[in-house]
Formats: sequence, C-alpha cells, structure tokens
Amino acid sequence: MKQKLVQGMIGLEIHCYLNTREKLFCTCIASRERGLAPNTLICPTCTGQPGAKPRAPNLEAVRKAVQIALVLGCTVNARMPWIRKHYAWPDLPKGYQMTLSGTGATPLGVKGTFQGIEISEMHLEEDPASWEPTTGNVDYNRSGLPLVEIVTAPDFSTGEEVQAWLGKLVHHLTYLKAIDANAGIKVDVNINIPGVSKRVEIKNVNSIDEIGKAIAFEFERQAREGGNVEETRRWDAVKGKTSVMRSKETAADYRFIADPDIPVLELVSSFVHDIRTALPASPDATRAKLVKQYKLSSSDAQLLASDIDLVTFFEQVAQEVDGAFAAPWVTVELLRFLNYHKVSLEKVNIQPAHFSALLQFVQRGKLTPLKAKEILNSWYPQSSMPSVAESTIRDEKQLLSFITSVLHAHPKAVSDYKAGEVKALDFLMGAVMKASAKRADYTLARKLLLQALSKV
Ligand SMILES: [Zn+2]
Repeated sequence: MKQKLVQGMIGLEIHCYLNTREKLFCTCIASRERGLAPNTLICPTCTGQPGAKPRAPNLEAVRKAVQIALVLGCTVNARMPWIRKHYAWPDLPKGYQMTLSGTGATPLGVKGTFQGIEISEMHLEEDPASWEPTTGNVDYNRSGLPLVEIVTAPDFSTGEEVQAWLGKLVHHLTYLKAIDANAGIKVDVNINIPGVSKRVEIKNVNSIDEIGKAIAFEFERQAREGGNVEETRRWDAVKGKTSVMRSKETAADYRFIADPDIPVLELVSSFVHDIRTALPASPDATRAKLVKQYKLSSSDAQLLASDIDLVTFFEQVAQEVDGAFAAPWVTVELLRFLNYHKVSLEKVNIQPAHFSALLQFVQRGKLTPLKAKEILNSWYPQSSMPSVAESTIRDEKQLLSFITSVLHAHPKAVSDYKAGEVKALDFLMGAVMKASAKRADYTLARKLLLQALSKV
C-alpha cells in the first residue's frame, strides 16, 4: 500500500557562515575548520571579557551579506542599529549575541524571493561559541564568526521541496564566494499541519540530508499526535526522531536592546549599487552562456558551471584558445589532475596563461596531446610556461630510427602482428611513443610503423 504523503507548512531559518578572513567585531582569524586546537583563535573581545570593546563591524562581512541580500532579491535597508539579543548560556560569554535582527531591529534585507520562495528577511549576526554539553567544555574559536540568517515564509509543503531549494541556495551563495559551504549550514525548521497541529520549531538541523529526515519524521508525528502548543524540538540524527527542548521563547525573553558601543550601520546607496553591478552571473545564466557563446555541450556546460573557479578558469583560457577545443581539456584533463591530487582548483596554482599556452602548442601540432598531458601532470603544486623545446617530432628519419629499434627489441610482438594479432600493433605503437618520450606525431609514426611492418 502506498504511504499517504503528509504535507503541511514549512518555513526555514538558515544560518550560513560567511567566508571572511576575520571575525565580525575583532581581528581574530575567522577559521571555520573543524579539528583546530580549541581556544587558539580568540581575544578579549570575542571571549567577552570585561572592558573589551568591539571594533567597527568587519566590512568584508557587511559586503558579503549585502551580496547575499541582492541575490535573494531583497530590498537592502540603509540604516540598521546593532542589537543585543540576551540569553544566558555557556556558549555566550557576553550574555548577549550581536545581531541585526529582533525587536527594534531593521534587518539588512527584506521582502525578497529566491527560486519561487519568499524571503521574509535576512540579516547579519555573530556566532556564539561551541559548547559540548556532555563535558561542559567551551571552545571560543567560533565565537564572533560572521553569520547570515535567511528567513523564508512558510512556503514549502514537503521535505523534498525544502531539500531541492536548499541545494540551489547553497550553490548560488557558494558561487558568490560569500559563504563557506564546507562549514555547513544550520537550519531551524518551522513546521505544522494546518488544522491539525500548531507550529513547532526544530532547532539546528545541520545538513540537507538530515533536514529531509527531520521533516518527514515531524509530519508523521504531528499527523499522529496533533499538537496544540507551540514548542521547540531537537532533532536527534542518531535516533532519527525529534524531542521536546522547551516551550517557544517569546520575543521579550531575549530583552533586545540597541548596542551602545557600535554606531548604527549605514549603507550609502553607492556602496550597494557597486556591489549589485559587480555580482557574478547566476549558475543558470552561466550555463546558458557557455552553450551559446562557446558552443559547449549541455553536459560540459553543466559541469563547468557547477564550480565558479572552474568556469572562471575556463573563460580565461577561452579568451586565448577556441572554447570548444579547450572544454575537454578543462572538464576531463584538468579535473582528472585535480582529482588525482585531491585538491580544488583554488588550492593549486595553475595559471590560465600557462594552460592556454599548452593548448595552443597542441593545436598547432607542436606538442602531442600525450606529451601535453604529461606536462600538465607535472604542474603540481604550480604550473610553469610550457616550452616549445618539447615539440612534436615529425622528422621521418628520426621517427624511423625509433621504429627500427622498437622492431628489434620486440621480435615476438612483430611475429604476433604478422600472424594477425591486431593488439600487437597497439603494443608496438606504444613502444614507439615511449621511445620518443611521447613526442612522436602519432598519425605519422603509425603510418611509418605499418610501412616498416609490411617490409619485415
Ligand atoms: Zn577575537
């Protein structure tokens, strides 16, 4: 029997880490890496010590938050007071979190739409520390990292819709280089079945996969149990169920007040305008452009457009070399190289100029594709200008000398070929290429090899 699909209303509050160099209100390095030694990237400000004053908010964080607001189609507000959101918890040394949200706040962006879902607001805030409830240990490395929170209207009906939409959101924001996708996202899910249950908030679900499972569980639970109180629940990924954390806070519990230390954040219109003009094209627009402008197949375009670094690299190369010729070199050879070294393009220094020069040598027949691949393989961790001294050998005399020595060295392969074994020809051709240090013109060498074999 097919299970009845439970639907309802789902809204999201999504927290993403901005990939800034420094924290929001101090100059501590903002590292989102896991496994760092605890409490090594801290200072009096981000550990909330008495008398420590915050610096003016990190401009890089403000700029990236504005980029995100614009991509979400939000109206960007011009004047925003920083708000202290109070709560007592071991992860919050000051006793309050600095945010652009809450009672008396003006969020950074409002009234947006992204991929058919209404964005109620988005804002910038600082992350609290991480607190390990079983040991009581607190690690302040994360304390003060800039986060954006994106709040959607309850426009989703199913977990599948949420998952597909979140995938697109993360991809777009990674494309902007505004968020650190490796640091993951934290999502609070507001969910209820109209007429059956009141709104429940599931706190801190931290992967797109888990969000789908948490929503499926909660719909099923609410359909079965109903529910006439608003409450906050916790998702237990191991047990695969939600449980009650607390009844929902009201806004008054947070005692929101404007921060007296930091001036109101004012965004002049030219600042927002300049960010808007410099926004990169969306992944969808980029894919369409690759097909139209460079005549790429839709699968190559899809692959390139999935990674902003890869597509930027390709477009730089395609200024020098025909795009259709360059595409497989990037989508097959360069990716093979990166996979082999288990790195992203960002982490190696492969210069587009060197890559273009390599491809131009191949196009003009000065390098064999095989030799070019060998040169590419040597470009770890950085590339260098390829040399024409490594040119293709087309001199028949020189090629014949390789062929003669190969035939001498492999009499068994020669007799196999004569006996009708076609594979022996591949073997001999491989030996000729090897003898020439992969520089022999393949077509010419093969022709000469066949001629030589016919005379044996
Ligand atoms: Zn600090």
